[in-house]
Amino acid sequence: MVVAPESVQGLRGMYEYIANLHVHSVYSDGSGTIPEIAEAAAGAGIDIVGITDHRHLIALEKGEEGWYGRVLVIVGTESNDASHHYISFGVTERVPDNEADPQQVIDAVNGQGGIGFITHPFERGTPLVEGGKVYNWYDWTVTGYQGISIWDYGSQWRDSITSVPRAFYQAYVHPNAPVRGASPEAVARWDEECQKRPVVAIGGSDAHAFIVHYGPFRPVIFPYRFLFRCVNTHLLTECPLTGNLPADKAAVLSALRQGRCFVAFDYYRWARGFRFGANTRGGFVPMGSTLSWAGETVPLWAEVPFRAEMVLIRDGRPVAVQHGLRAEFTADGPGVYRLEAYRRHLGRRYAWIYSNPVYLS
Ligand SMILES: [Zn+2]
Ligand SMILES: [Zn+2]
Repeated sequence: MVVAPESVQGLRGMYEYIANLHVHSVYSDGSGTIPEIAEAAAGAGIDIVGITDHRHLIALEKGEEGWYGRVLVIVGTESNDASHHYISFGVTERVPDNEADPQQVIDAVNGQGGIGFITHPFERGTPLVEGGKVYNWYDWTVTGYQGISIWDYGSQWRDSITSVPRAFYQAYVHPNAPVRGASPEAVARWDEECQKRPVVAIGGSDAHAFIVHYGPFRPVIFPYRFLFRCVNTHLLTECPLTGNLPADKAAVLSALRQGRCFVAFDYYRWARGFRFGANTRGGFVPMGSTLSWAGETVPLWAEVPFRAEMVLIRDGRPVAVQHGLRAEFTADGPGVYRLEAYRRHLGRRYAWIYSNPVYLS
């Protein structure tokens, strides 16, 4: 049993909110109104929903951003159509599409003081949906974006439908049978970009209305409430949200901007309570923090709400593994350190949690 140092209380004392940040409403290709989506979020037990309808901010313009009971709905948008999908928050004016030059989209979001994330960058497609069409990100010369969505549940689920029996099985028997973890290509790209500058990982559902075209087969549309128990982004804040929309929205966007968040697959076990950080002279600092290397080893701390396999990743490579509820690792040099936690369900190992990194430079 790893004993927690006294100073880890700082990490434990942070406030945690579970967010699903990539959601389409009836204002684009989703099936729910904003109040219905908020109700589904409350039913699923999550705290924050990010609405990202395509190419507009209708929900914001209609004044539908805000608190619905204990659920905070913030309204952003998703830019571009055939490729280079980019979700952004904190923007107040529509962001012009630019698929040929996605840097323009990123710059436009930053120009409005917003934050944005490259989303489902490496879809694989399946011949059964839209003839194998993918909506990928191709231009990796871009810069200035805040993060990458490494785990897009909707894309991954759709790509796993490789046959009609498979589609029936996943739609009606075991929807999460194909779910193993984040997109390996997206994680590899994220690790690479983190070598240049801090880049924040998020995940979400990206609930599009998938239609499998095959004879009498009916459209497959997941209910929001189900999706909100799948891939979420958990945010950590120093103060609780208060019910004051401008202040709460600022706190949410700040946690995202700083990488004080982690991606979790909450379906079998909630990841609420996960913490990862580095012990400094002033106490523990959370994921997303940058520390300068002072020539001495830095203790890293991780704890999970249910027993798990905890893998420390340094500069994109696994370097240490511990099992249990708590783990203490040692950073013995500069690097980008992050944690992945794995669990098993019916004998199958699945990725449960991806922390954002602690940067030791
Ligand atoms: Zn998209
Ligand atoms: Zn989308």
